[in-house]
Amino acid sequence: MTRVFNFSPGPATLPEPVLRQAADEMLDWHGCGMSVMEMSHRGKEFVSIHAEAESLLRELLAVPANYKVLFMQGGAIGENAIVPMNLIGKTGKADYISTGDWSKKSIKEARSYGKVNVAASGEASNFTAIPKRSEWKLDPEASYVHICSNETIGGVEYHWTPDTGNVPLVADMSSNILSRPIDVSRYGLIYAGAQKNMGPSGLTVVIVRDDLIGHALPITPSAFNYQLQAENDSMFNTPPTYAIYIAGLVFKYVKAQGGLKAMEEHNQAKAAILYGYLDNSAFYRNPVAMDDRSLMNVPFKLKDESLDDAFLKGAQARGMIQLKGHRSVGGMRASIYNAMPIEGVKALVAYMKEFEAQHG
Ligand SMILES: *Cc1c(COP(=O)(O)O)cnc(C)c1O
Repeated sequence: MTRVFNFSPGPATLPEPVLRQAADEMLDWHGCGMSVMEMSHRGKEFVSIHAEAESLLRELLAVPANYKVLFMQGGAIGENAIVPMNLIGKTGKADYISTGDWSKKSIKEARSYGKVNVAASGEASNFTAIPKRSEWKLDPEASYVHICSNETIGGVEYHWTPDTGNVPLVADMSSNILSRPIDVSRYGLIYAGAQKNMGPSGLTVVIVRDDLIGHALPITPSAFNYQLQAENDSMFNTPPTYAIYIAGLVFKYVKAQGGLKAMEEHNQAKAAILYGYLDNSAFYRNPVAMDDRSLMNVPFKLKDESLDDAFLKGAQARGMIQLKGHRSVGGMRASIYNAMPIEGVKALVAYMKEFEAQHG
């Protein structure tokens, strides 16, 4: 068996020990004679899997007691509608910070549910930098302020937590959740699709402060109503059981590695190798402002884009896949989430050097 170094932006590489454990438990979970996929979501076996996953996630992120953790479906794109449906009703308006493709999608979707104010935009820098907090034009009457904490496509990331006063901060953390410690109490709501840093697709994690629950617009579908999901321990409808199980194994793995502080050190070490090389090369280029560079998604361009295909082919031949940049920006992108080992980044940089020596 040969496993590749998979630089996919998502669904993304998972820790090998997690996959091995899932394989071992595939036919018979803990002697119960069935696979997790075959269990009733209300049976004691799955209820224990669900409870453990939630408790591990709470522990990793130090989620305060006045927050609910919901395991939902619909992905982050679903949440682009579900968040305003549940939260915008308070005042009918919300502030959004535009920092790239994903926040632009959130903004577009939210407009169906209330008045959306783009309080700051990275457009002037072609979305290569996060607008400074001092430039944000926030509305004190907004129901919430929405950010995307890591723009998976553009590779810009907040390395600070915006202060929004009494207006709750809402963050799409799909592509950097669990990559470092965060102070959950600074946020009103955090949402993330699982398939970047937590597990398989199909599961969406929502962490929401209690006082923000219970204001859903009447049009909100029941399955997407935070209050109904909170009252039913995320089992108002059948939850994505297998995805929750795998995410639980990932949480356990992250904890065993030393938790989020250890993840942060590991991610900083990987990013330093890759950005360090990019910055010293005249052949490759990353366009993002130094202070706002993502530790998770590193886009870069070759000096001559006619070499892109050769670069990707060579990478593939060396067991490194999914390095092609998003179609909207072109070039390359290396996604180096928690589960990407440092060896993968070293192998990538060694190949980049080799390619530069050949074509530079
Ligand atoms: C991947 C991603 C999404 C899309 O998630 P879906 O699961 O496809 O809905 C949204 N936001 C960010 C920041 C992402 O990285």
